[in-house]
Amino acid sequence: VTAIPDNRHITLIGAGLAGAVLATLLVQRGWRVDVYEKRGDPRVQGYGGGRSINLALAERGRHALRLAGADDAVMKHAVMMRGRMVHFLDGRTDLQRYGRDDSEVIWSVHRGELNVVLLDIAERAGARLHFDRGLSNVDFDARIAMFTDPRDGSTHQVAFESLVGADGAGSALRSAMTKQVDLGERTESLGHSYKELEIPPARDGSFSIEPNALHIWPRGRYMCIALPNDERTFTVTLFLPNEGDPSFATVRTGHDARALFERDFADALPLIPDLEQDFERNPTGILATLYLDRWHLDGRAVLLGDAAHAMVPFHGQGMNCAFEDCVALAEQLDAQPDRAAAFAAFQADRLPNARAIQQMALENYLEMRDRVDDDDYLLQRALERELAQRHPDRFMPRYAMVTFHRIPYARAFERGRQQRDLLVDLTRGHASLDTLDWNVVDAAVRERLSPLPVDA
Ligand code: FAD
Repeated sequence: VTAIPDNRHITLIGAGLAGAVLATLLVQRGWRVDVYEKRGDPRVQGYGGGRSINLALAERGRHALRLAGADDAVMKHAVMMRGRMVHFLDGRTDLQRYGRDDSEVIWSVHRGELNVVLLDIAERAGARLHFDRGLSNVDFDARIAMFTDPRDGSTHQVAFESLVGADGAGSALRSAMTKQVDLGERTESLGHSYKELEIPPARDGSFSIEPNALHIWPRGRYMCIALPNDERTFTVTLFLPNEGDPSFATVRTGHDARALFERDFADALPLIPDLEQDFERNPTGILATLYLDRWHLDGRAVLLGDAAHAMVPFHGQGMNCAFEDCVALAEQLDAQPDRAAAFAAFQADRLPNARAIQQMALENYLEMRDRVDDDDYLLQRALERELAQRHPDRFMPRYAMVTFHRIPYARAFERGRQQRDLLVDLTRGHASLDTLDWNVVDAAVRERLSPLPVDA
């Protein structure tokens, strides 16, 4: 048994995105932190993530990175995305801006690069990182964690005061906790999965399509998206249902994938030279939402990030939410000497917010794949933009609340519902904004929407 726990020592499981940020935040606050990671050190052997190659970073995530002193280093690798570039079936494209101007954008970052940068910062801050240590079992009574080295199967025992599970959607700590206490775990599969493909740089080395956008090919029950990488490639993600036609049940081979692209994503096809190989070589990722009613076992263990609340990726908020969790947990651990109380306060604060962003992420799938080219949706969005300008103190698009601000997710969700009802009511029976009576519109906004909180 190694490591001597004390009242300022904490043991993190997982040196992924949340684990690395939390380690840094805690060390900065005077904690002694050991982090155990199942995989090898990605800085030595290259990143073997195998999962979504790039991610959209937004304000919540950047705020946490600023607190951890990591924002500058991360932003060196980030590519700005101003909005959604919608690719229609007939080849037309349309850029739908996310925000008012370039101060309201999101950033594409490479998962592997991000992880490497965050690990360097955590280690430099003083966190002790242990690679090739996969949590396999926990004796909560004796406070001993068992790790297995995947290279040789050897086992290692480590004493702990508290364990923090930042070990992702398939969390081993969550499984161990479940043997002690009912966490109320349930997983809802989306019934859709994804496959990643790649657009290489153009022949002259430049980006082969507009770099500063998140590209979407909405096709009703399914879609493709593409996010830029700083090495001038794009990662394309094809989302399809698991059943029906087309689905991953009917599109099974590279040849099938080519036929699908020829029919439905014709302008993307010439950009993906290795379509068949990518399709056959890359794993099919499954998509699900994980709900728990409890995130902690008194003061001995707590979960955060995907381990506590994995969500579908359609709001681009899983990592952003995980980073926000890290700040909240570090603050609670500072504020409360009693760890059980700190973990309980963390859960009380974050669980309702996690539920809200999980729901918004599910809603966004429908919006991205099926609504971004609808007339009534486009009219509501046009009115939304107009109202945000006329009444900045009362009307803020939900996307902006979630993406460009740190308004708690649960509040953004509730407020978004009120605003959507208002947009539906005001546009009913209209085909354009020209026929609206602005006196009526302005009065309705003032009557139905209270002023936004000042910190918005
Ligand atoms: P992870 O990043 O999964 O890290 C977990 C770590 O724990 C890993 O390093 C793993 O090796 C390690 N580990 C696992 N088991 C053990 C064990 N037994 N012992 C020790 N270590 C272990 N989020 C966004 O914000 N924006 C996006 O655009 C976005 N796009 C996405 C696209 C897709 C297709 C998917 C699937 C997800 C996307 N997400 C996005 C979500 C984001 O990837 C996750 O929310 C984020 O990675 C969660 O971070 P985490 O640290 O909790 O878990």
